[in-house]
Amino acid sequence: MIKFMKKLGILALVVFLLAGCSTSQVQDQNKSANEMSADIVVIGAGGAGLTAAVTAKQAGADVIVLEKMPMVGGNTLRATGGLNAAGTKYQELAGIKDSPDIHYEDTMKGGKNENIPELVRTLVDNANDALEWLNGLGANLIHVSLSGGSTNPRSHAPEGGAAVGPAIVRTLEKAVEDQGIEVLTETEATEILTDEKGQISGVKAVSKEKGELVIKAKAVIVATGGFGANQDMVVQYQPKLKGFATTNHPGATGDGIKMAMAVGAATVQMDNIQTHPTVVPGKGIMITEAVRGTGAILVNHQGERFIDELQTRDVVSEAILKQENGTAFLLFDQAVRENLKAIEDYAQQKLLIEGTTLQDLAEKAGLPADKLEATLKRYNGFVAAGKDDDFGRQHLSLSLEKAPFYAVEVTPAIHHTMGGLSINTKAEVLDKDGNSIPGLFAAGEVTGGVHGANRLGGNAVADIVVFGRIAGQQAAAYIQ
Ligand SMILES: Cc1cc2nc3c(=O)[nH]c(=O)nc-3n(C[C@H](O)[C@H](O)[C@H](O)COP(=O)(O)OP(=O)(O)OC[C@H]3O[C@@H](n4cnc5c(N)ncnc54)[C@H](O)[C@@H]3O)c2cc1C
Repeated sequence: MIKFMKKLGILALVVFLLAGCSTSQVQDQNKSANEMSADIVVIGAGGAGLTAAVTAKQAGADVIVLEKMPMVGGNTLRATGGLNAAGTKYQELAGIKDSPDIHYEDTMKGGKNENIPELVRTLVDNANDALEWLNGLGANLIHVSLSGGSTNPRSHAPEGGAAVGPAIVRTLEKAVEDQGIEVLTETEATEILTDEKGQISGVKAVSKEKGELVIKAKAVIVATGGFGANQDMVVQYQPKLKGFATTNHPGATGDGIKMAMAVGAATVQMDNIQTHPTVVPGKGIMITEAVRGTGAILVNHQGERFIDELQTRDVVSEAILKQENGTAFLLFDQAVRENLKAIEDYAQQKLLIEGTTLQDLAEKAGLPADKLEATLKRYNGFVAAGKDDDFGRQHLSLSLEKAPFYAVEVTPAIHHTMGGLSINTKAEVLDKDGNSIPGLFAAGEVTGGVHGANRLGGNAVADIVVFGRIAGQQAAAYIQ
């Protein structure tokens, strides 16, 4: 009996030890799975975040990127028009005279002078370098077109005017892969961590695959984009936008702003929220400004023009909202289509009403044919004369006469949040007293002040690459 008890005891001890041992192993595995470390954590894998990650890695830092969506790209993937840069070799090749100073003046004017001047100066002075850096990585942004509010064509896109965002994201994704940077998708950052001295010490996140994560780091770059898809936040700062649709991807919810505010960051100009004038009602699909820049006009339900189509977005949006149903028709011909590859995407998505003649188009779009014909005749006369007597449109590039003709019904939708985290020209996040928060950097649409009251088309993509590079460089310098 004693022998049996002894055996039982030994057995129990073995079971206990095994059980204990396996439990602690599981705990260890959990611990190592849930704790990671890097020199720098980048939150958000859109254009700004990927640019910052590549730049920081190029400067020798060890980087981890967190992305809450299943794929990288954010709103950057949706960008269609182009990247603004002045004084580029592609402008020179096309015979366009432009300079960072004119770019500066346009940006300040477009932003109603609410922009923070030194941030705009940084943007325009570094945009050409940013473009060359991207093209050096293979983006091939060589097509130059015009955007509303710009004195000169300076919006750079891939050959033929194809969509700019996918080209940028593809290029940066490849650079990230080539450099072996770890990008954790479906991993949502929930908190920026500080140590007992109040120094930035990492990020807390929730990964779909790994559960809760703590990533220790000496510096954090916030690149979570804007909050255009967060209705509550939009309405909190701009109640008149209640019920508006959005052009933004679902991840644009302002997380980075809230997380940075929790560690003392200040915000600027949060109520500066832009609507884009030409969005397909009910679908939220934006028709790029480059369509108007290439030659399209806007007509109302009476078939009449009502605005200089190349005015800034706030002005054009307001003018459309005053028309019947708050909608208007973007109208162009085959020549415009042939000059802008991006239109092929809209054709594939079946967004275009097509007419073999102007009469046919008018019938299909429900517009008065005689009025529409008179409007086009008058507009084509302005193009021939080089002067728009009705609305003073400056760039009268193409007369609209080559069949078939196309129309798309459009209305404004929430598009860009110009306000956000307060930063300086080193992409350092500032507190409410204007002091930088050591180790905390931000770039892209999550920041505020670059675009003032109204962003010019093409300036956001320039912003994310210019400030993404600065954030990457500065964070890498900081950790040393
Ligand atoms: C339809 C459309 C067309 C546009 N066209 C142009 C154009 O032609 N030219 C131009 O200059 N601008 C354009 N813009 C604006 C421009 O695309 C954006 O302002 C810019 O791309 C924002 O880049 P970003 O890197 O700051 O943010 P995003 O590209 O939005 O990236 C932010 C990323 O952070 C992720 N994220 C958010 N929260 C978290 C979290 N808690 N944890 C982890 N990840 C998180 C998001 O999922 C997202 O992937 C367009 C915008 C839209 C919507």
